[in-house]
Amino acid sequence: MNGKTDIMVVGTGAAGLFYALNIPEDKKVLMITKTTVDESDSYLAQGGICVLRDQDDYDSFFEDTLKAGHYENDRASVDVMIRTSPEIISDLVELGVEFEKKNGKLVYTREGAHSRARILYHEDLTGKEITSKLLAQVKKRPNITIIENMTMVDLICQDNRCLGVVANDRAGAIHLYRSDYVVLATGGLGGLFHSSTNLAHLTGDAIAIALKRQIELENISYIQIHPTTLYSQKPGRRFLISESVRGEGAVLYNRKMQRFVDELLPRDLLTKAIHEQMEQDESDFVWLSMQDMGSDVITHRFPNIFKHCLEEGYDITRECIPVTPAQHYFMGGIKVDLDSRTSMAQLYAIGEISCNRVHGANRLASNSLLESLVFAKRAAKDTHDHYEINEVHQATLDLNDYRDLEKLRRDYKTIILDEIERSKVIERIDKA
Ligand SMILES: Cc1cc2nc3c(=O)[nH]c(=O)nc-3n(C[C@H](O)[C@H](O)[C@H](O)COP(=O)(O)OP(=O)(O)OC[C@H]3O[C@@H](n4cnc5c(N)ncnc54)[C@H](O)[C@@H]3O)c2cc1C
Repeated sequence: MNGKTDIMVVGTGAAGLFYALNIPEDKKVLMITKTTVDESDSYLAQGGICVLRDQDDYDSFFEDTLKAGHYENDRASVDVMIRTSPEIISDLVELGVEFEKKNGKLVYTREGAHSRARILYHEDLTGKEITSKLLAQVKKRPNITIIENMTMVDLICQDNRCLGVVANDRAGAIHLYRSDYVVLATGGLGGLFHSSTNLAHLTGDAIAIALKRQIELENISYIQIHPTTLYSQKPGRRFLISESVRGEGAVLYNRKMQRFVDELLPRDLLTKAIHEQMEQDESDFVWLSMQDMGSDVITHRFPNIFKHCLEEGYDITRECIPVTPAQHYFMGGIKVDLDSRTSMAQLYAIGEISCNRVHGANRLASNSLLESLVFAKRAAKDTHDHYEINEVHQATLDLNDYRDLEKLRRDYKTIILDEIERSKVIERIDKA
């Protein structure tokens, strides 16, 4: 038994960190994370973060988000996300985040399916810039503690109320953390797939736990494939070639070096077109060319992509690179309301693991960091406004259920993939 804290946050990506920073300092926040603090998808975000530049852009930002999401988005969630975006950007700037500027003014870029340039960025390392600055602030807060290499394996629950978290450390020891509130900020589930841009340890554990604990899920078969990742025969994570590369003018070629598609289509449509082209070409990839941007733009605007491709043997200032689609993002997840409350009392879910249907059936580029931060802040406010001490402590657990971590991992993977398949079948029946 590890005693009791006020609030447990599972996950130290942008969502978890921003939530913790928005909790008043009189509450003790304990954060656990599966590996090290800097190993989250939030660190990997390249392209940027969307913002409402001015009121004139509201309608087109709203429409672009809905169109990309096949109009399956929750309109209230989209409205909250867009309207709150300027406030979130000013919070970030206050916390020390630096976005690209020219003559003292913010510079905006454009990505696929955006009708206007409304994305703020920091080189091609926007996620690292945001998340590392959030982490630096969290480290200064005396009320927040982070424990690394601690994996949540279950929730402690009773009568549909969350009482805490069961976790395993690297040595296999089981830890029980009791708390007034638990916040799930565990990111996506790309680690379950053979080919993904996500970090391998992001395996959607919270989804398996939610299924086990009858916490409501939503749209869990809505999984986004990113159209352009660097093709490689090596095993492991796929390296993303950000949408903003195409937004800045990169073009796609088929085997005969002919353009075959509008490069700025929404992700799902572009992925479909690339898959069709690959089939026609009998190839595992298509070509992407950035050369027309010129080497100055490439090395200044996309230094990380330039460096990585060079390490893989491609000089993108002079030659095309092979690209192929890979799993990228999870639009579905643990069902939440506008304040990120789940169907279980004292339990919130934020960031990629949550689903308030803001993205509908397909996420618009650069809406994810924004969504994570907007709804993490709302969850923190809701926790504060309605704070309730958890008086229930009875839940009993059989710790033997958690001794064999490898088996648990396998079981959770099967539970999630089976549920995704099951929900695809239901979807097909519903649409028939
Ligand atoms: C390559 C790449 C590029 C991207 N580019 C962009 C972009 O330009 N713009 C944009 O808006 N979005 C982008 N995204 C998406 C965006 O980065 C993520 O959706 C977002 O950062 C998710 O934040 P999060 O806090 O929910 O999860 P994450 O940042 O993934 O953090 C999840 C945390 O949960 C922890 N965790 C997981 N399971 C457990 C467990 N069982 N126990 C304990 N801890 C656990 C992990 O260790 C990690 O700390 C990109 C994603 C990738 C992969």
